[in-house]
Amino acid sequence: MNLCNINVIRSLMEDAGISFRKEFGQNFLINPMVPEDIADMCCDREDSLIVEIGPGVGCLTDALARRYERVVAIEIDKGLIPVLEKTMAEHENVTVINADVMEVDLAALVEKYSEGRPVSVAANLPYYITTPILMRLLESGVRFSSITVMVQNEVAARLCSKAGSKDYGAITAVLGYYGETRRLFRVPAGCFLPAPKVDSAVIRIDLYSAPKYQPKDEKLFFSLIRAAFEMRRKTLVNALSAKLPQLSKEAITAAIVSLGHPETVRGERLSTEDFVRLADALIQ
Ligand code: SAM
Repeated sequence: MNLCNINVIRSLMEDAGISFRKEFGQNFLINPMVPEDIADMCCDREDSLIVEIGPGVGCLTDALARRYERVVAIEIDKGLIPVLEKTMAEHENVTVINADVMEVDLAALVEKYSEGRPVSVAANLPYYITTPILMRLLESGVRFSSITVMVQNEVAARLCSKAGSKDYGAITAVLGYYGETRRLFRVPAGCFLPAPKVDSAVIRIDLYSAPKYQPKDEKLFFSLIRAAFEMRRKTLVNALSAKLPQLSKEAITAAIVSLGHPETVRGERLSTEDFVRLADALIQ
C-alpha cells in the first residue's frame, strides 16, 4: 500500500470516518521519497529503537519499520489508531501508542521497548508544537542517540544557526548544550496534504553521549539564556539585570568582559559555550 498516495490516504480516512484535524497539525506527506530519505538519514544503527511522534496514516512508520529493529509510534489522534492498525498490520516490529507526546512518560516507554537498543527519534512534527516537543525530548532524561525531525523551514534555520546570525535564538543556544544540529534537506509545501503555507526542512540533532558542557549551576545557565533572548534588543548587561535582579550590573559587566566580549554585546552573539562560561563567571 502506498501510504503517500492521495487516494489511498483519503480512502483510509473515509473508511475510518475521520477527516484532517488542523488542531493536531495534520499535514500528511504525499511525496514517497521524503519518508524514505528521512528513514535513511535519521539513524546510523539498524538495531535501534526508533520513537516516532505523530505517525498519521503511517508513511514514515512503514519506512522506519523496514530499516530498524523496533519502532514505537505515538499518535494523539484516536481516530487514526484503527487506520494504523490496518496499515501497520504486516510490521511485527511496530507498536502504536495512542497518547500525547507531551504527557507520555518517555523514559518508561523507552525502558519498556528498547531492551538495551540504542534509541533515536524520527518525526514529521506537528508545527503548532515543535519547540515544546523538542524541549520535552531533550529534558526527558532519555539518552537518545539522535533526533531527526521535519519542521517549518524558518524554524530549521533557527535551530541550525550560529551565534551572531539573525536566526540565532534561545532554542539554538539550548540545543547546543545537548548536541550538534544540522540541516538535512528542504521539503516543498507541495509534498503535503493539505499543503501548508510554507516549505519545511528536515534537521538532525546528534546528542552528545557524554555532556560536552558542565555549568556549575545548570539552572543559572538556562536562566541566562532565557533572559538574554527575552529582551533581544537590549544589550546583554541590560537584559540580564532587568530579568535577573539578584545579579548586580557590575558583576554582569565584569563577567561578560572576562569572556572577551565588549560590555555592549547583545545576547545573540554568545555561543552555548559562552553562556556556560558566563554562568560560571557569575558564580565566582
Ligand atoms: N507522520 C505523518 C506524515 O508524515 O505524513 C503525519 C505527520 S503530521 C505533520 C503530524 C502528526 O502528529 C499527526 O498525525 C498528528 O495527529 C500528530 N500529533 C499532533 N500532536 C501530537 C502530540 N501532541 N502527540 C502525538 N502526536 C501528535
